[in-house]
Amino acid sequence: FPPERVRNFSIIAHIDHGKSTLADRLLELTGTISKDSSNKQVLDKLKVERERGITVKAQTASMIYNYKGEDYLLNLIDTPGHVDFSYEVSRSLAACQGTVLLVDCCQGIQAQTVANFFMAFGEGLSIIPVLNKIDLPGADIEKTARQIETTFELDISNMLSISAKTGIGVAGVLPQIIEQVPAPTADATAPFRGLLFDSWYDQYVGVVCLVAIRDGNLRKGDRIVSAHTGNTYEVTDLGIMFPHQTATTSLEAGQVGYVVLGMKTTRDAHIGDTFYREHHPVAAFPGFEPAKSMVFAGCYPMDAADYTKLQEALDRLTLNDASVSVAREASVALGQGFRLGFLGTLHMDVFRERLQEEYDSTVINTAPTVPYIVRYHNGEEKTIRNPAQFPDVDQHPHVAAFLEPTVAGTLIFPAEYLGAMMDLCGAHRGLLHDYTYIDERRVMMKYTLPMSEILTDFYDQLKSRTSGYASFDYEETGYEPADLVKINILLNAKPVDALATIVHRSHADRVAKDWAKRLKTVMNRQLFEITIQAAVNNRIVCRESISPVRKDVTAKCYGGDITRKMKLLDRQKAGKKKLKTVAGGVQLPQEAFLTLMKGH
Ligand code: GDP
Ligand code: MG
Repeated sequence: FPPERVRNFSIIAHIDHGKSTLADRLLELTGTISKDSSNKQVLDKLKVERERGITVKAQTASMIYNYKGEDYLLNLIDTPGHVDFSYEVSRSLAACQGTVLLVDCCQGIQAQTVANFFMAFGEGLSIIPVLNKIDLPGADIEKTARQIETTFELDISNMLSISAKTGIGVAGVLPQIIEQVPAPTADATAPFRGLLFDSWYDQYVGVVCLVAIRDGNLRKGDRIVSAHTGNTYEVTDLGIMFPHQTATTSLEAGQVGYVVLGMKTTRDAHIGDTFYREHHPVAAFPGFEPAKSMVFAGCYPMDAADYTKLQEALDRLTLNDASVSVAREASVALGQGFRLGFLGTLHMDVFRERLQEEYDSTVINTAPTVPYIVRYHNGEEKTIRNPAQFPDVDQHPHVAAFLEPTVAGTLIFPAEYLGAMMDLCGAHRGLLHDYTYIDERRVMMKYTLPMSEILTDFYDQLKSRTSGYASFDYEETGYEPADLVKINILLNAKPVDALATIVHRSHADRVAKDWAKRLKTVMNRQLFEITIQAAVNNRIVCRESISPVRKDVTAKCYGGDITRKMKLLDRQKAGKKKLKTVAGGVQLPQEAFLTLMKGH
């Protein structure tokens, strides 16, 4: 396939607008997969993705389509649908020349539609709007078309209306892609240059890279170099995703395919990296930046003896997900453990679920935090990823300012929720920049929000206050100074480092009291009285106590049945296993950490 007969495109859509369903239809239409129902959603490979119905990891598939007597190689490059993975989205878009902007015409434009549109627009892609779900009774084709016209200034005169589910109108999609998406500008005679835009770990062959070949070509046995790491690799296998790995003799300029390089871990596969032929360096693709972790949390074995086992589980999992950062840390309360860094909270939840499956013992996950920056008077800055390391005095002699990461949020919702949404954003320290009506009934608001404010209950609140009708998306916008303080939780007067958190001063007393109350409800009584205190920058703001119990478990048995007594003792032992002894003999259940994650 010469570049003129290759099209590299993606489908972008708000979650549930039908991206995976349309991808399936296109693969069926081109005979790449059979109509067999077991092939549903071939692009959503991971179990969590199927379970949650979201795309976490981008997948790519090639198909061959005959248009006006010529065969075309169409490469569908899937993008992760969630904002946590926005850097990966932008890199996968960089491997395309055009995109299908799919909008559910029952729901209209949503926050992710807007975020994805601007990302594609920023990459200079040609954008083909397509309305989906026209088979549903609630479909409003007219109104959705007008939203697209006003919000994105796209030409809607030839816009396709389809049902990805029933197949109505889907046949019109591929011809539009061929006509409207430019062929890749690729130079077959120039030295090899390839963009690495995705990778995963395969237990048999190691890391598989997805590469968009911009110039030259690639064959088995070629030696190529990573511009980012300088490492040299030999190509041991290559081919196209059709829709599964299908070996070919070469990958030519303009094509997209998989390449096996004998890489040991996906940590060496930097999304956005440039490959070139050994001894023939080329200009690297612009915009390379390693994925940044924006959410950090501690991860500890419940039983200290399981430390190595936990480490091994983490090693195995991060082979496949290099975007999780892992650093050892020690906690006075919890012992030896790890600080994990994630791209966002969804990424964290997905990873924790996988860890649960991979590692069969109990882990303690501490509440998530964003990275804060402490700026000192001498101009130095330090990033703090663990609240325990945050200064806890009001007037620190060396500290000039604290900074927190912020995001630009986009909210779209029916106009009757305007008041509720302004309240919500206001309560989360949001700053309104702009609001517009995208049609007669729907509002789009732009807010700047501290990232910490959207970590916990913001999204749930957004959904519950609007009966699910609001959508939200955001992008990171850098750091802003903020009046931050540290909350310490003290158990029997001893601070527990793993329970420390950082909040804005205006929320501090409320959060401190709330945390102390929540802890009280999940902690067990012990043989001695337990006091729970919360301190804001070392000022105690509240005190709760749990009265002692006498350890007389067998008393209930009235001296009766001995086996019943034994059972009771066993149960007591099993219960003990799930407790972590911290400060001064006080025992914390795993639940104590869970309850504090539910937001402020
Ligand atoms: P994605 O999150 O964008 O990948 O969305 P999916 O393709 O997973 O679709 C989300 C839900 O919408 C699924 O239950 C699909 O069966 C359904 N769906 C997708 N397209 C259509 C359509 O054209 N009509 C109807 N009625 N349902 C659709
Ligand atoms: Mg999907």
